[in-house]
Amino acid sequence: MSLGDSHWDVLIVGGGPVGACAGALLQRAGGAGRRPLRIGLLEPARPAPPAAQDALDVRVSAWSRASERILTTAGAWQRLPAERIQPYERMCVWPAHQPARSPDALVFDAAYAGERNLGAIAENRLVQCAALEAFEAAGGTILPAGFAGLEIGEQDVQVRTDSHLLHCRLLVGADGARSKVREAIGLVAHESSYQQLAIIANVRTARAHERTAWQRFLGAGTLAFLPLADGSSSIVWSVEEALGRERLAQSEAQFEAELLAASDGVLGAVQLCSERRAVPLRRLRAERFTAARCALIGDAAHVVHPLAGQGVNQGLLDAAALSECILQAQRGGEDPGAALPLRRYERWRKSELAPMALAIDAFNRFLAHEAGPLGHLAQHGLAWVNRSETLKRLFIGQALGLSGELPAAARPAALS
Ligand SMILES: Cc1cc2nc3c(=O)[nH]c(=O)nc-3n(C[C@H](O)[C@H](O)[C@H](O)COP(=O)(O)OP(=O)(O)OC[C@H]3O[C@@H](n4cnc5c(N)ncnc54)[C@H](O)[C@@H]3O)c2cc1C
Repeated sequence: MSLGDSHWDVLIVGGGPVGACAGALLQRAGGAGRRPLRIGLLEPARPAPPAAQDALDVRVSAWSRASERILTTAGAWQRLPAERIQPYERMCVWPAHQPARSPDALVFDAAYAGERNLGAIAENRLVQCAALEAFEAAGGTILPAGFAGLEIGEQDVQVRTDSHLLHCRLLVGADGARSKVREAIGLVAHESSYQQLAIIANVRTARAHERTAWQRFLGAGTLAFLPLADGSSSIVWSVEEALGRERLAQSEAQFEAELLAASDGVLGAVQLCSERRAVPLRRLRAERFTAARCALIGDAAHVVHPLAGQGVNQGLLDAAALSECILQAQRGGEDPGAALPLRRYERWRKSELAPMALAIDAFNRFLAHEAGPLGHLAQHGLAWVNRSETLKRLFIGQALGLSGELPAAARPAALS
């Protein structure tokens, strides 16, 4: 693809699941009654979609109901092959000092909330590819180049890639946690390490996963088994860094034995069926999500601990909220980079994200990390939640991604 045609209404940097989805939402809706928006997306590393016979990738996420709806509105969810996605109907959360199948383990059941499931587990790459295809099918243009720098002017933003100069009226930074866009704009980000590694891998288990997401809070970290479509499970095991490196260096048999013990045998014997990968865990929050003619979405704006499965789900809510604000402005004849819609986006998403990020950190500190009376108290908190109808409904709403102020694309009417 030539980059020669250099003037865009919206230029998105980063074609991860969040950037690609924002592009597809804007491109599909951006023509209503007016000149369609010209949208370009810079992505230097577009992945190939997995072939039908490929084993499931180790990078998977739990996609909430809100995400399913947003991706459906974007034209992406319909493209996912059913045989690679696994809806899950239950979540079972339990602390180290109790068995998973005890009455005090916290169980969230989709049927309890009148839902068919709580969400679905699918490979990140699969969803990313579907969203990129949906963007192109709607008329968007993928530019195979990396962002290198910018200059913000009154009327537009000049964007440099390695070899070209592009112009846009709105620049969207969706280039992940190490966002160069955020840095180039000069937006301050508060960042720190959890001093944990997440070990991820796919495993076969002696017992069936029962379409359930299992999560155990350990003394120093958490261990999740997410059900996969081929009957295996994806593990996300967050442990202190030194211990994580030790686990990675272990033989497969040693690792499997440790994993069996850490899971309290909830799914029986465990056998690795993929490589083991480690991801250092960091938290990040940009102080501002917008600047003149620029906005950040997804991990470029905020990164949270994966224990609550919220990162990409919140990123898709950013994509939907930003699209809604821009499209509303466009319908009123405004420029997509105008200040007012960007301010509305920022206020909206920051007010939704701040309490959620605090709650995730508190969970990680008390349930996964804290020894002593406070940790003990927090671990018993699971049993209290289990006994409270109101709290359980609140948590199910969170898992479905249906609490708070939702963009129209995440509301039921958006589902075709
Ligand atoms: C172990 C683990 C488990 C997780 N599980 C879950 C879960 O169950 N549920 C959940 O909601 N979240 C989960 N997350 C979080 C989730 O993976 C992230 O929030 C999500 O990947 C962020 O998507 P994104 O599109 O914002 O960024 P990314 O996926 O990082 O995509 C950024 C894109 O930008 C491109 N890019 C980078 N630099 C440039 C540049 N200079 N120019 C142009 N393009 C560029 C990259 O090539 C990439 O395609 C998990 C995270 C981890 C670490």
